[in-house]
Amino acid sequence: MRLQNATSGQVLVNGKNIFAVKNRAEDLELRRKMQIIFQDPYSSLNPKKRVKDILAEAYKIHKTCTKEMLDGTIDALCDVTGIAKDMLMQYPHELDGGKRQVVGIARALSLNPDFIVCDEPVSALDVSVQAKIINLLMDLQKKMDLSFLFISHDLSVVKHISHRVAVMYLGKIVEIADKEELFADTRHPYSIALLSAIPKVDVNRKVRRIVLKGDVPSPIDPKPVCRFASRCWMSQPICFEKEPQLREIGPGHCVACHFADVSREKMLTADMVGFDQNE
Ligand code: SF4
Repeated sequence: MRLQNATSGQVLVNGKNIFAVKNRAEDLELRRKMQIIFQDPYSSLNPKKRVKDILAEAYKIHKTCTKEMLDGTIDALCDVTGIAKDMLMQYPHELDGGKRQVVGIARALSLNPDFIVCDEPVSALDVSVQAKIINLLMDLQKKMDLSFLFISHDLSVVKHISHRVAVMYLGKIVEIADKEELFADTRHPYSIALLSAIPKVDVNRKVRRIVLKGDVPSPIDPKPVCRFASRCWMSQPICFEKEPQLREIGPGHCVACHFADVSREKMLTADMVGFDQNE
């Protein structure tokens, strides 16, 4: 989102490196197309502004709406997102977490973007309102033809909302695939451990939870080896010598592991898997 400058690498949006954009006009154009929904609606809305002013801000900065049209445009935004009109004159502290996050979503949608980064948008909310927000996002995505980059630690939510899933460990993508493929044929040991931690609703379904042992290496200046090696039950000497590259093991399914071709069943027969002994 270019809220921070990058120290290295590139971030490409529609093939354009956003860190190479130098002038304000180009920067504004880019920001019209990509928006963000922040994690914590308790700190991402200006406490001194009413909801109406929060929603009007983007139109004023980007000059995409005349003064005369502003009220009507905000009303239309409220209709799309389900914001009650009487909320417009309220301040953020008068709203509960779910309503605040809907304001955050409406603000992100105000410029009609193509792409929205959803940075753990439900993790700060009560479980009772999480489903409402997720369903609203899914509905808006279909209606407005949006692309989301949905960041989450909650794999049940990821499974519900995503089309394609990338699993990251210590700042690197270790596995990426379409959702169905990733959940059915998980190949990276870290992804396998992660999926085993999803709470089960069906008590008759036996999925044993893997408890990882070992220390997480420092993310500062990591060595060019497998970053997961100190915690992986499958690790071999090569894992401590050479960094595995992300490689395609099936159509659209990429894994960064020297042993990604080993089947999931075989991986789980390794004696060193640390299953939770209480299960
Ligand atoms: S490369 Fe080695 S240590 Fe890394 S995930 Fe694969 S098996 Fe485990």
